[in-house]
Amino acid sequence: MRILIVEDEQKLADLLRRGLKGEGYIVDHAADGEVGQNKIELNHADYDLIILDLMLPKKPGYEVCRNIREAGIKTPVLILTARGETESKVLLLNSGADDYMIKPFHFSELFARIMALTRRPAELLKSELKVADLLLDLNTKKLFRDGKEIELTLKEFRLLEYFMRRPNTVIERVNLTDNVWDINYDNFTNALEVYIFRLREKIDKGRKHGLLETVRGVGYKLKIS
Ligand code: CA
Repeated sequence: MRILIVEDEQKLADLLRRGLKGEGYIVDHAADGEVGQNKIELNHADYDLIILDLMLPKKPGYEVCRNIREAGIKTPVLILTARGETESKVLLLNSGADDYMIKPFHFSELFARIMALTRRPAELLKSELKVADLLLDLNTKKLFRDGKEIELTLKEFRLLEYFMRRPNTVIERVNLTDNVWDINYDNFTNALEVYIFRLREKIDKGRKHGLLETVRGVGYKLKIS
């Protein structure tokens, strides 16, 4: 699950980011309305939820929300408002937001709203990914190759999920670090290589046909022959 936070108060943004990461979400952040709207327009297919502050530099939250709805983007939006901004409740709901919360709030309350907003109809939830003889169960987070279970850490699971959703596609390293991790890659120079190495050990070791291919100078590819 991936969440975008559009919030200009750095402290609150950091708090949310840490809290949500602790719950297993991947978190993106934008600090003003314009950057937020751009990110949504470009990446909305990847987001499960957008947390949008109401009062933002450059473009207010309700305007961002209205614009993305007009563009046909249906990702759930939870708006954060400060106390005293409640007179704009109607404005909020007219903008196409799904819910709103008044600051300050307890994290447990936020979390409950997030759970409610991201609960999608069961038939839309694809619970398995299959690529070649790999089968990844998205609910139990279990991986099987050729029917045999392979244990993965959560990071390895996310990495493999990313590959399995894009088989036979060369994926640039920067896409992996940006989308699978929420980290500044410069600070983790070798982290990706290490994770790829471990993942490859797990899925390809001792096998004639390796699936996870290095594309020199570019990135990696999950190759199905
Ligand atoms: Ca604000």
